[in-house]
Amino acid sequence: MVDHITRSDVLIVGAGSAGSVLAERLSADPARQVTVVETGPGPDEPGVRELTHNGLQLPIGAASPLVRRYRTELTAEPPRGADIVRGVTVGGSGAVNGGYFCRALPTDFDGPAVPGWSWAEVLAHYRAIQTDLDFPDQAGGGPIAIRRTHEFVGSTAAFVDAARAAGLRWLPDLNAEPAGDNAPPGIGAVPLNIVDGVRLGPGAAFLEPAAARPNVTVLTHTRVLRLRIAGARVVGVETLGPNGPAILEADRVVLSAGAIGSAHVLMLSGIGPAAALRAAGIAVVADLPVGQRTSDHPEWVLSTTWTVAPHRPVLEAVLVADGLEIRPYTGGFIAMVGDGTLGRPDWPHLGVALMAPRARGRLVLLSADPAVPPLIEHRYDSAPEDVAALRRGCAFATEILSATTELGEPMWSTSQHLCGTAPMGTDGDENAVVDPRCRVRGIENLWVVDGSVLPRITGRGPHATIAMIGHRAAGFVG
Ligand SMILES: Cc1cc2nc3c(=O)[nH]c(=O)nc-3n(C[C@H](O)[C@H](O)[C@H](O)COP(=O)(O)OP(=O)(O)OC[C@H]3O[C@@H](n4cnc5c(N)ncnc54)[C@H](O)[C@@H]3O)c2cc1C
Repeated sequence: MVDHITRSDVLIVGAGSAGSVLAERLSADPARQVTVVETGPGPDEPGVRELTHNGLQLPIGAASPLVRRYRTELTAEPPRGADIVRGVTVGGSGAVNGGYFCRALPTDFDGPAVPGWSWAEVLAHYRAIQTDLDFPDQAGGGPIAIRRTHEFVGSTAAFVDAARAAGLRWLPDLNAEPAGDNAPPGIGAVPLNIVDGVRLGPGAAFLEPAAARPNVTVLTHTRVLRLRIAGARVVGVETLGPNGPAILEADRVVLSAGAIGSAHVLMLSGIGPAAALRAAGIAVVADLPVGQRTSDHPEWVLSTTWTVAPHRPVLEAVLVADGLEIRPYTGGFIAMVGDGTLGRPDWPHLGVALMAPRARGRLVLLSADPAVPPLIEHRYDSAPEDVAALRRGCAFATEILSATTELGEPMWSTSQHLCGTAPMGTDGDENAVVDPRCRVRGIENLWVVDGSVLPRITGRGPHATIAMIGHRAAGFVG
C-alpha cells in the first residue's frame, strides 16, 4: 500500500555528513522545497543527542541504536573478516565518529585533476564550513567549530614526548596548506570538531538549524529502497517508513546515503555493473562501474603498555611521515565505545595507517532485496607495496617508542573510511560514475554527493573533505 505522494524540488537521500551540509545550502533559497530522507532516528529522540554530542566516546558499540553494521573481508590471503559500521541518524557517520576533522592534501585534488575541483577551488569551501578556534586569522566563519588539544596526558603525552625525543618536528597546524611534497614529516595535534567534549558535526551544525525552515522537511526512520526512473530520468524514490511504503516525487534527487548506501540504492535501481545487476535479477538502466574501485585507509593496530587516559577524544595527536599516519589512541576499544564487557582488560593501542593506499576494494550487489546488504571486500593485501609500507610504519613506530613502550604484534584493521563507490571523473575516465558536477552519467536529475564520489581516499581522514563536498556541490544541484 502506498502511503502518500509528496513533491519536492530537491530530495536528498541521507542526512549524513555531506547531505546535511547540502540540505542547508540548498534550502537557503526559501523558494526551493527540500526534503531529506533519513533511515535513522532524529536528534530529538530519547538518548540520541546525548550519544552524538559526547565527543569522548564513539557510540558504535554492540548496543548502539545509531549505527548499521556491515561485514567485510579486509584481506584475501588469508581471509580476514571484520565488521565495519556506518552512522545511521541525522549527521550520519559524522555524528558517531572520532572527531578528527582535517583538510585533505592539495595533491588529493590536484592529482586526479577533475575540472572544478582543484585545490585552489575547493579551499574556499573548506573555509566556509568551519571556524578554527585556534587560528582566528583563518577563522572561516563556518558553523563547525574546530579546536586542538593543547595539553596532552596519558598515551598521547607518552607518544608525543617519544616522537619529539626522536627528533620529529612539531607541526603547529595539520590543516595548513603544506608546502613542497605536501606531507612534511612531523607530529601535530589533531584538528577536532569536538570542543569542550562536545562533538558537533555537519548534522548538528548545518541540518538541525536548517530543519526549522518552512521549506525543509526531514523524514526520519524512512529508508529509500530504490529510485523511480522513467526512461533515463529520475522522477522520485520509493521509500519504506513508519507508515509503510510510499512514493516521493521530486524534480531532482541527490544520493547522499554514504559510500555503502548510495552505491546500494544505485544498484537496486538498475545503475551499476550490468552483469552483477542481471545476476541479481535487476533490469539494467545504466551500465556503470559502481562499487568497482573502493578505497579506504588500511590500519595496523598494535597494543601498547601505556596508561589509559579516560574521558578524552579518541585521538588527539598524529605523526605523519612517508604517506603514513601513526596514531596514539587515548584508550583501548572498550574505552572508546564505552560499552565493553566489564572486567576485560583494555589496552590503549597504536594505529599505523596507510594514507595513500594503492589497493582497491569492491562492493557488489548480491540481491534485488534492499534488506540484503551488498558484499564488501577491502582487498587491503592486493598491493604488496601497501603491505610493505605498513610494515615500515610499524618498524618506525617501534624504533621511536622502543625506550618507553612495549608494542604488541600488528593486527589488520581499518580506519572505517570507505570511499569511492561512485567516483567522479571526466567523460574519458572509464572508472567514473559521476561527472565533475556530481551528476550520474547518462541519467537525468540524479546526483551523488557524499564520500562515494571521491576518486581515491584522501591523504588525511575524509570527514572534513566529505562535508566540504556537500558545500561545493550545492552549486551544481541548485
Ligand atoms: C566509527 C567511525 C569513525 C570515524 N572517524 C572519523 C574521524 O575521526 N575522522 C574522519 O575524517 N573520518 C572518520 N570517519 C569517516 C567519516 O565519518 C565518514 O567518511 C563520513 O562521515 C561519511 O560521510 P557521508 O556523507 O559519505 O556518509 P554518512 O555520513 O555515513 O551519511 C549517510 C547517511 O545516509 C543514511 N542512509 C543510508 N542509506 C539510506 C537509505 N537507503 N535511505 C535513507 N537514508 C539512508 C544513513 O543513515 C546516514 O545518515 C569515521 C567513520 C566511522 C564509521
